[in-house]
Amino acid sequence: MLKIVVVGGGAGGLELATKLGRTLGRKRRATVTLVDRNSSHLWKPLLHEVATGSLDEGVDALSYRAHARNHHFDFQLGSLCSIDRDKKTITLAAMEDEDGDLLMPEREISYDILVMAIGSRSNDFNTAGVREHCIFLDSLNRLTVSATR
Ligand SMILES: Cc1cc2nc3c(=O)[nH]c(=O)nc-3n(C[C@H](O)[C@H](O)[C@H](O)COP(=O)(O)OP(=O)(O)OC[C@H]3O[C@@H](n4cnc5c(N)ncnc54)[C@H](O)[C@@H]3O)c2cc1C
Repeated sequence: MLKIVVVGGGAGGLELATKLGRTLGRKRRATVTLVDRNSSHLWKPLLHEVATGSLDEGVDALSYRAHARNHHFDFQLGSLCSIDRDKKTITLAAMEDEDGDLLMPEREISYDILVMAIGSRSNDFNTAGVREHCIFLDSLNRLTVSATR
């Protein structure tokens, strides 16, 4: 069966994986796999509400695993670290816990069609000190890390 892999479950990738799952996945015409380095998705325009404490991401974020199950696609938690276009495989980095103990080894996923939807990075316009000191409002991880400092 055709293997479609979408890397990045943001605004674009999540929508695509959901549509492909509901069409090709449901009819078993393709396997659709979504990969993201986080286990849940939060719509970015809501990030300022997390930053100000008026929204609880634990309650309001969408669980990729649950969403995938309801929409006929697979979800793989992991961070893309390389692509082998000749072998048609991607590699997801090994995962460790906070103590550095291995949770899951590096693994490969093969594809027939690969969609890259990993978003973008905030631009600091080369302004000195911004990258080191600014809290970018572009991901939950950064907000969580900043809040615990
Ligand atoms: C604060 C804020 C407010 C915004 N407000 C609006 C708005 O009101 N209206 C509007 O239209 N747009 C808004 N935007 C812009 C909009 O959020 C983006 O245009 C949109 O999210 C881009 O979608 P994307 O799928 O390209 O990337 P993203 O939504 O950024 O998704 C990228 C995904 O890829 C994953 N990823 C990245 N690297 C890897 C990797 N190596 N391995 C595995 N997974 C990876 C990330 O975890 C993420 O889930 C806003 C953005 C921000 C930051």
